[in-house]
Amino acid sequence: MSNFIPFTRPSFNQETIDAVSEVLRSGWVTSGPKLAEFEASLSSYFGGRPVRCFANGTATMKIALQVAGIGAGDEVITTPISWVATSNVILGVGAKPIFVDIDPRTRNIDLNKVAAAITPKTRAIMPVYLAGLPVDMDQLYALAKQHHLRVIEDAAQAFGSQWKGKKIGSFGDLVSFSFQANKNLTTVEGGCLVLNSDAEAKLAEKFRLQGLTRQGMDGMDVDVLGGKDNLTDVNAVIGLQQLKQLPAYQTRRVALARQYFDLIRAELKSTGLENLKLELPVENFIDSNWHMFQVVLPLDQLKVDRAQVMTELKDLGIGTGVHYPAITGFTLYKNQGYKASDTPIAERIGRSILTLPLFPGMADGDIGRIASGLVEILKKHCKN
Ligand SMILES: *Cc1c(COP(=O)(O)O)cnc(C)c1O
Repeated sequence: MSNFIPFTRPSFNQETIDAVSEVLRSGWVTSGPKLAEFEASLSSYFGGRPVRCFANGTATMKIALQVAGIGAGDEVITTPISWVATSNVILGVGAKPIFVDIDPRTRNIDLNKVAAAITPKTRAIMPVYLAGLPVDMDQLYALAKQHHLRVIEDAAQAFGSQWKGKKIGSFGDLVSFSFQANKNLTTVEGGCLVLNSDAEAKLAEKFRLQGLTRQGMDGMDVDVLGGKDNLTDVNAVIGLQQLKQLPAYQTRRVALARQYFDLIRAELKSTGLENLKLELPVENFIDSNWHMFQVVLPLDQLKVDRAQVMTELKDLGIGTGVHYPAITGFTLYKNQGYKASDTPIAERIGRSILTLPLFPGMADGDIGRIASGLVEILKKHCKN
């Protein structure tokens, strides 16, 4: 279908395409001067804190855990409503994810429930800022300080988000971002970690490349087990171009999000569905980067499930996504003894959350078409 609206789509301008061509022609295509320039730009974006880039957001979080020295026998508190990478990296370093239920309003980890999950083995909290909405950062860092825990922020979706006027990443402990193709700032694949000191940055570099230490011209040693997680110059120039476009993207995302609130509410009203408990996101146009616009379907008021709503939206030329089912319901996690019913709010929201299209390149009339299509489908399947 020619006018199909995908749930997201990256934007690359001609300047970006030219910059990539230039790197390809230069003779140096892997990690080199463009990576160094991108890391320096990111560091100044984050107020001068050290930043290192990696091949993807998953590798970035893995290295954050390694830098924090988290491994076998340690517990890390996190949310069940995230991309599975969040808890997979915890398992990957040999530690144990402890899932705390979410706040149904923000859909982020409920910080009021974190203290009860802390044990003598707890080493860190790994919050996720779903759709780019941060948690209460004051409460997060007060908790961490009180219980002597590291914080590894999975800010994969929160590039450009802020808290009390400060950018996410410009303060705090270890802050991890993803530059995967769907994210607000993309390098196609990639990620970056904001660290506390040059010593931590050096350690991250070592984990990024096989655990290699360089000592002088001819000295080479390996003293920890590292991987191959570097970001290339091809990716880095895309990131440099995206950084320039980010303010315009952000303005567009906020305008589109505002339209969603207005038009969905207007459609519900004109259709006589004011009593339908369709849950909209937190209406925060300051802190969130509006990475996604997600609604929670009132499944108990509907005669159909989420999959049917998605199919009917697709038939109207509207792409949607599910971000995310509760991680605790996946076979790998069930086999380790986790139960979705232990975090009932996450279980419900994971079953009924729906991501509507939101990306800077959307056409002006798109939101109206989506709002009326969604409400029409809900009306058709409403129980009474
Ligand atoms: C995208 C994402 C990741 C992983 O990033 P990749 O670059 O795809 O490896 C991790 N956590 C969350 C919440 C994400 O959205």
